[in-house]
Amino acid sequence: MPDTKWVYAFDEVGDAEDKVGGSWDGVRSLLGGKGANLGEMTRLGVPVPPGFTVSTEACNAYAAAGETFPEGMWDQVTEALAKVEQQTGKTFGDAANPLLVSCRSGAKFSMPGMMDTVLNIGLNDEVVEGMATLTGDARFAYDSYRRLIQMFGSVVLGAPAEAFEEVLTGFRAKAGVTDDAHLSVDALKQIVARFKEIAKGFPETPIEQLRLATEAVFKSWNGKRAVDYRNAAHIAHDLGTAVNVQTMVFGNTGEDSATGVAMSRDGSTGENHIEGDWLVNAQGEDVVAGIRATTPIAQLADEMPDVYQQFAEISGRLEKHYRDMQDLEFTVERGKLWLLQTRDGKRTAQAAVRIAVDLVEDGLISKQEAVQRVSPEQIDFFLHPQLGGDSRAAAAGEGNLIATGLNVSPGAAVGVIAFDADKAVEMAAEGRQVILVRPETKPDDVHGMLAAEGIVTSRGGRTSHAALVARQFGKPAVVGVAGLDIDLSARTMEVGGRVIAEGEWLSIDGTIGEVYFGKLDTFIPDISDRWLSSLLDWADSFRRLGVRANADYPVDAERARAYGAEGIGLCRTEHMFFEAERLPIVQRMIMTEDAAVRRQALDELLPYQREDFLGLFKAMDGLPVIIRLIDPPLHEFLPSFEDLTVEIADLKIRLASGEGDAEAIRAELEDKEQIRERVEDLREANPMLGLRGVRLGIMIPELPRMQVRAIFEAACAAQKEGVTVIPEVMIPLTSHVNELRRLKAILTEEAESVMAEQGVQVKYMMGTMVETPRAALTGARMAEEAEFFSFGTNDLTQTTFGISRDDAEAGFLMEYIEQGILPENPFASIDADGVGRLIKLAVKEGRETRADLEVGICGEHGGDPTSITLCHGYGLDYVSCSPFRVPVARLAAAQAALAEAN
Ligand code: ADP
Ligand code: MG
Ligand code: MG
Repeated sequence: MPDTKWVYAFDEVGDAEDKVGGSWDGVRSLLGGKGANLGEMTRLGVPVPPGFTVSTEACNAYAAAGETFPEGMWDQVTEALAKVEQQTGKTFGDAANPLLVSCRSGAKFSMPGMMDTVLNIGLNDEVVEGMATLTGDARFAYDSYRRLIQMFGSVVLGAPAEAFEEVLTGFRAKAGVTDDAHLSVDALKQIVARFKEIAKGFPETPIEQLRLATEAVFKSWNGKRAVDYRNAAHIAHDLGTAVNVQTMVFGNTGEDSATGVAMSRDGSTGENHIEGDWLVNAQGEDVVAGIRATTPIAQLADEMPDVYQQFAEISGRLEKHYRDMQDLEFTVERGKLWLLQTRDGKRTAQAAVRIAVDLVEDGLISKQEAVQRVSPEQIDFFLHPQLGGDSRAAAAGEGNLIATGLNVSPGAAVGVIAFDADKAVEMAAEGRQVILVRPETKPDDVHGMLAAEGIVTSRGGRTSHAALVARQFGKPAVVGVAGLDIDLSARTMEVGGRVIAEGEWLSIDGTIGEVYFGKLDTFIPDISDRWLSSLLDWADSFRRLGVRANADYPVDAERARAYGAEGIGLCRTEHMFFEAERLPIVQRMIMTEDAAVRRQALDELLPYQREDFLGLFKAMDGLPVIIRLIDPPLHEFLPSFEDLTVEIADLKIRLASGEGDAEAIRAELEDKEQIRERVEDLREANPMLGLRGVRLGIMIPELPRMQVRAIFEAACAAQKEGVTVIPEVMIPLTSHVNELRRLKAILTEEAESVMAEQGVQVKYMMGTMVETPRAALTGARMAEEAEFFSFGTNDLTQTTFGISRDDAEAGFLMEYIEQGILPENPFASIDADGVGRLIKLAVKEGRETRADLEVGICGEHGGDPTSITLCHGYGLDYVSCSPFRVPVARLAAAQAALAEAN
């Protein structure tokens, strides 16, 4: 490969582009992100200190050849260096007029673990003297020299960084100064001598310094830190890193020099103003190292107005060019501005949304791009409380950021510590906000998790019980906080040497996995934020999938509508049966064998149900509302057999003791025994697969018939008030078309008779929830009766896998995922190969029977971006999810449509 071009001067970025066929992504692969952008800035006429990039291909060739430079590479480096000498009029290694360079690593993606930058390469005992004479500033020359030996020593030669720091500390103490900048020339000379003892093997020859630094960058690509990072971040190992060699410019040559970092927009809020920090008379690393207190960028405008003006102009130009917010590094040397780096800036979720929308309004990107630039997780940010920035910063400043862990469920929570579930419930009942802190959680902790505002565990991973349950209930959670040492018997936890007791305040951020001691302020981001609504409006214009919400109550429906839901995809009617004043009626209905008594109980329930539905219809005026008829097995409405047995035993003891009103006790006992008998009757070995769903309706048709009457009485009443109602009656858990045919006939008759009584005609549909494999497999037959299908993907996943979710998620399912038997939790993301195929088949064959069959999903998967992408592919009409996920689903659906279009 003697002809291979390994080295590209910054002004040769065009050659690199030609080589990779014009693709900017290709240029970044070849030159690394830093090198590509240094070249691009040079091409744009931005002042960049001259230099060159040794390509990533050279890095790979170096590794492949057993750590030797590929043929021709070093010659090209020295040629490129000669060209830089020409451009700068300085000479590498020439004491009279020395060229100094930095050696900077830079892979395609910014990546921790790579070799740190070495500045001031080219200095030695002789050159440093020349520098001192030339600049008339011996202090500056020797300070630069000691920095070179220090960086070179620790970064290239692997000397311990602390050894250098110890020497510096000693000299500062001796001189009685706190700042290295106040050390005398003489002290610096002694420091240089000491540093050389630590940095054994420090080469005096400049070209040798450059060669060793270059090799060290190449080697660091395969160093342990970098390899581990790439494994964790799923970055390919064959990308290689580039090496950038660049003329040094000095921000530390006096009061007219400076260095800084800035973003072209505010990375926290997204506001369109330059945001950053700088330091007068300082060198690159000083700003980020946090050794000196930095100055806000606005002050640069006062102190160096011309420089600031120029910087602002360049910042705007680069933003336009890259069509994104930029993160910039700059240095001012004796009043002249130099740019040293630009890249797309990191930003918070809030800033991501605002910047994407503003860039559209600035004409820099299209609406499609804006929608694609924000991730569904970033939208999720707007739907949870957050820790206030000021109180977070204050807490961190006071050392109250006590631990970090895995960010498994987003949002912030603040509360007092409870170390077990019962305690959490007890404290919550007293009206206190609680954070449940456990080593790990189990299924019998769930009541405490529900009572808590947030959850912290010291063990467990992303798929631990705590993580799964927290996400399911939308509770912020941080798990696997290894720094926490919980002592359950002492009711304390120890973290970083501090002992914290039960009842003390804790604040957690589940979005990034931080745990703070104390009570921090929280705020709820504004969903009606102008930028978010624009972005979501645009998303709506691109998506094909409709988005509905699962909501049982009018308040939820209203919230869902405010979040952009286009209907209700699932209203679970049984929730209405559990309310305190209704449950006794429901139980009476279940207990009786007498048709008249049952009729009477149902008549009593009817007005409640009618009110429920009326509220829903009004909230969803003009939008479809899917109401699922009663689904759970009846025994769920009765006390448990075990509880009853205990109560009966208690009553018998009381009766035997002779205390209390024997008559009353005997009556209660009789009552309980009767209920227990009925519960015994209703008991099933597998209630999940038992008398529930459509089967219940067929066995007790009065029950769904009452519900349908309530639905249509409410619909007629609403319609009379001018509300547009679109009820869709959903029959759950069917597996054979005959079930549907039988129940649908009964229910249609009831609906029609209500409408006849009321003298109102309502447009409605009758359909089924597809949640058994047989229903999906016989979609063609099901569609003979069903006018719509709604895939209940929770149950469909259970029945397809033959796995009971409640048992499995607390048990072996986690093992399965950890061991890689299952790639992920099929209850979180649709299993495309199994459950997904069933959906696809049912949709296709169902539509063959009934071309206008409406199809959607209403499982929790409806709020999961990956599942939403699948649903788009299956050609569903809509997804339905929890109200809080609606904005996320709107964006994810748009992204699915845009990805397909590209
Ligand atoms: P990182 O990737 O850690 O930011 P950089 O290569 O960007 O590493 O360099 C670290 C610091 O040194 C930055 O502040 C950068 O601006 C500064 N720097 C790098 N090269 C030069 C140079 N040639 N002249 C002046 N400062 C430089
Ligand atoms: Mg670095
Ligand atoms: Mg940098």
